[in-house]
Amino acid sequence: RSIATLDAALIQCRACPRLVAWRELVAREKRAAFADQTYWGRPIPGFGPADAAMLILGLAPAAHGANRTGRMFTGDQSGDVLYRALYDVGLANKPTAVSIDDGLELTGVRITAPVHCAPPQNKPTPAERDQCAHWLHNEIDLLAPTLRSVFVLGAFGWQAALTGFAGLGWEVARPRPKFGHGAQTVIRRGDRELTLFASYHVSQHNTFTGRLTPAMLREVLRAAGRHAGL
Ligand code: SF4
Repeated sequence: RSIATLDAALIQCRACPRLVAWRELVAREKRAAFADQTYWGRPIPGFGPADAAMLILGLAPAAHGANRTGRMFTGDQSGDVLYRALYDVGLANKPTAVSIDDGLELTGVRITAPVHCAPPQNKPTPAERDQCAHWLHNEIDLLAPTLRSVFVLGAFGWQAALTGFAGLGWEVARPRPKFGHGAQTVIRRGDRELTLFASYHVSQHNTFTGRLTPAMLREVLRAAGRHAGL
């Protein structure tokens, strides 16, 4: 199996009734406001090369951002902050993400999420997170040969990452490493080693209040990129 076949299967997924109803309702209601675009309204696959050395793990797609454009973090203010920072540290070829065909490319980085469909109030339930976990686990397994670092946005993503990696046979420290901006932990499987880097999420709640500044984001992104050899 390849990342491309995984992505092709993922975008057909209808396993979570609440999220399927929500993503399609939003797409129907908002289609008129974005009449010049095709409103995606489906699961959002990971974005970036299949041989990425660094994985960025968010929370879930936004209703009017990725759910509209079909690409992770594309078309909303959280994405504006993240892609600007990726460009500033040399991991993206452009500072903005507008649509699926805007020419944006990432260098050695893939962006994905533990939940692939937009949830109401940006809050997936634990059952939805568990339902979606196998997609992330498969993606991580396919990336494992080249992956060196994982940049995790927010406490939800941090827990999902630790649980996901432990479930895939990676040794995770006990007690589980606590989430905090700049936190790091190393996980191992056989002779493989991955470093997880934590960052506050690029949500408007964090960026508008100054809890997460562009400099704070760049610092952890740079560390994760360097660790991955990027
Ligand atoms: Fe499928 Fe994941 Fe979307 Fe649920 S959240 S419908 S498991 S892609």
